[in-house]
Amino acid sequence: MIRVSKSVIGPKEKKAVEEVLHRAFLGMGEETQKFENELQAYVGSKFPPVCVNSGTAALHLAIQTLDIKAGDEVLVPSLTFVATFQAISATGATPVACDVSDKNGLIDLKDAERKITKKTKAIIPVHYASYLGDLEALYAFAKINSLRVIEDAAHAFGGSYLGKKVGSFGDTICFSFDGIKNITCGEGGAVFSSDPQVLERIKDARLLGVMKDSEKRYKNERSLEFDVVEQGWRYHMSDIMAAIGRVQLSRLDAEFAPARQKFAAAYRERLREIKEIAFLETDLQTVVPHIMPIRVLNNKRDALRKWLNQEGVQTGMHYKPNHLLSKYAQPGEVFPVSEKLYEELLTIPLHPEVTMEDFERITVLIARGLAL
Ligand SMILES: *Cc1c(COP(=O)(O)O)cnc(C)c1O
Repeated sequence: MIRVSKSVIGPKEKKAVEEVLHRAFLGMGEETQKFENELQAYVGSKFPPVCVNSGTAALHLAIQTLDIKAGDEVLVPSLTFVATFQAISATGATPVACDVSDKNGLIDLKDAERKITKKTKAIIPVHYASYLGDLEALYAFAKINSLRVIEDAAHAFGGSYLGKKVGSFGDTICFSFDGIKNITCGEGGAVFSSDPQVLERIKDARLLGVMKDSEKRYKNERSLEFDVVEQGWRYHMSDIMAAIGRVQLSRLDAEFAPARQKFAAAYRERLREIKEIAFLETDLQTVVPHIMPIRVLNNKRDALRKWLNQEGVQTGMHYKPNHLLSKYAQPGEVFPVSEKLYEELLTIPLHPEVTMEDFERITVLIARGLAL
């Protein structure tokens, strides 16, 4: 079976974990701080990010720390992983689903504008399939409407926009380092922000609200006499995770990014010849593609998916729109583009260990499956 996504872990990650295990300090410590500093250097951000134990935790803490709470509304594209919605509702705020653009699958600002009310506090763009779209227009929209921006950049680590790395500019940016993302810590996430006060508060909030505990932990110590002023969570990263992440980060530009870019470009080039396949807009010069969604037209997606699976090619579906989930459904709302994409999108294998042979097999099988 050719897998749709996978972690790529080698001897260096294993050695790094072993070193942490030998140190016998497994929680959050100096390794996590080193990873944060290396992430800052890589992204070129003004401040180091705050590392946490998942992308969902990163989003939850970012939303909470921007003082978004019960009674507030947050604009979010329906076409995203349920994590984005859960992170909003975890704060008590209401996720307000918006439709997406037919061109690129990113939040449709016209629909978002229609959904603004007095309660709207923030917008969470999702960098679907790593593409940033017109991020300048999004920030301009946020500014005009006095909204905070929390970027769900779970797909977008390593990418850049107008020459600047994602995470180095903007408001508050959340990454995921789960098992299949562009780099992994096993599980993990990070929050970048242009606001140092937001980062300081998140540093406390990830450690149950224990004030200034992060500084102690970086020295492999912890606070015993402390104060707590805000709601916190046990969301910190462990040194085991950070050790994996540090090695992964060192491999991104040399190995992972070029492999992802090469096959994403090759798929487009090859599959373009098939008239029943279409693509969402992207820019492979500047993004590190996390997934490879294709649009299968004429109602053929499910049959193709079944055929590929039968022939040993695993595929995915990103995503079931959140407005179709019982928890988030709003009666009477229509999302024509999200629902059309939900019927058409098929994610085909893309990860750094896809081989030329896999690529040939997958593309031949797609052509054959559609001709059946
Ligand atoms: C992976 C992902 C998340 C959540 O990240 P986790 O690390 O899995 O918690 C959020 N949003 C999107 C779009 C994702 O793909």
